[in-house]
Amino acid sequence: MVRRGIANVLEGIGYYGVQRPQTTAAPFLLVWNFTKQCNLRCRHCYENAGPKPAPDELTTEEAKHAIDEFANAGAVALSFSGGEPLLRKDFFEVAKYAAEKEFYVSVASNGTLITEKVAQKMKEAGVQYVEVSLDGFENTHDEFREIQGAWKRAIEGIKKLHKAGLDTCVATTATHYNLKEIPKLVEFIEKDLHAKRFIVFNFIPVSRGKEMVDQDLTPTEREELLEGLYSKLLDNNCKLDAFSTAPQYAVTSSKFAFGPVVATHFTNKTATEMLKGRTRSLTEFIGGCGAGRLYCSMEPNGDIEPCVFIPIKIGNIREQSLVNIWRNSPVLKQIRNRDLFKGCGKCEYKYICGGCRARAYAYFNDLQGPDPGCSINQKYWEEVKCKGEHA
Ligand code: SF4
Ligand code: SF4
Repeated sequence: MVRRGIANVLEGIGYYGVQRPQTTAAPFLLVWNFTKQCNLRCRHCYENAGPKPAPDELTTEEAKHAIDEFANAGAVALSFSGGEPLLRKDFFEVAKYAAEKEFYVSVASNGTLITEKVAQKMKEAGVQYVEVSLDGFENTHDEFREIQGAWKRAIEGIKKLHKAGLDTCVATTATHYNLKEIPKLVEFIEKDLHAKRFIVFNFIPVSRGKEMVDQDLTPTEREELLEGLYSKLLDNNCKLDAFSTAPQYAVTSSKFAFGPVVATHFTNKTATEMLKGRTRSLTEFIGGCGAGRLYCSMEPNGDIEPCVFIPIKIGNIREQSLVNIWRNSPVLKQIRNRDLFKGCGKCEYKYICGGCRARAYAYFNDLQGPDPGCSINQKYWEEVKCKGEHA
């Protein structure tokens, strides 16, 4: 895995030259929406998942072929998401196959199906890391997920994962629904659930999430939330790794002169500590939003997309090689050129943050548009508000 990772970076430098931020030879991480099927009905779901799988999902054999293809390309980490990935009957077989191909295998789950036996089977299959979504305390979570009892089952799932010795992360999508609950939730996750990591997902109004666009945080609310998270990361008494998928987290961290810079949300506390005291150039190498440079996603039917939140097909694994898609997609070329971004392209933080491309696309239908989620882009936030999308 380490060998493949180093080769991926070096080959990327060989092919693309040294860049700010760098593009690797193949995606370091692939997030695979393994099925469209889900037993919940969350309001913000980017996949519009429901009770049935999509009719054209990859078969087990095709799924294994895709894994071979990712390994040949040099990808390092594979994350199963969904829908609810545990609903697919071949999940353990496919996850085991990926682990045998030396992928770092992780799973994003709603947690409701994780019994002691399931947690054990995940471990035996070679899963190393599990992320369970929790969008607040019981009432908030169940209302948001539209299923009574979902919270209690997710909590049980997290406890079973902990007992099985799996690295566990709790993921919360921050919106006006739950913003005020987050500080208490962090404490609960650390002290009662003993999770290793807490990650705040940036809300992106895509798919079903479009219907609750008015619940998005203002730039100021997001900045205060990220500052609170970062103070947890710096606090030696807090055992939790506190991260966010908001690329502005790199900006928050860079403002603290003596703290480590959080170069990207695809990292952990140890890696972040290692960056402490290093020059800014290392952070600019990694560079905040990883879509189309370090990471991409795959739909249940094999469609490749730049990010799970960017619904643009750039190829299909049934028809093309991953390397061919990665090297030649005009969409990815657009995402990689930060100098041309509206708003973000003129920002001093563009190489460590770059803005969330999915939010730029969701709000302005422009992959090179501004991310209206930070105060530097306040005028674009006002524009969005004027369109009447926000309360
Ligand atoms: S303007 Fe864009 S690049 Fe700069 S901090 Fe804000 S989101 Fe990041
Ligand atoms: S577009 Fe970038 S910042 Fe936004 S969710 Fe995707 S990888 Fe993260």
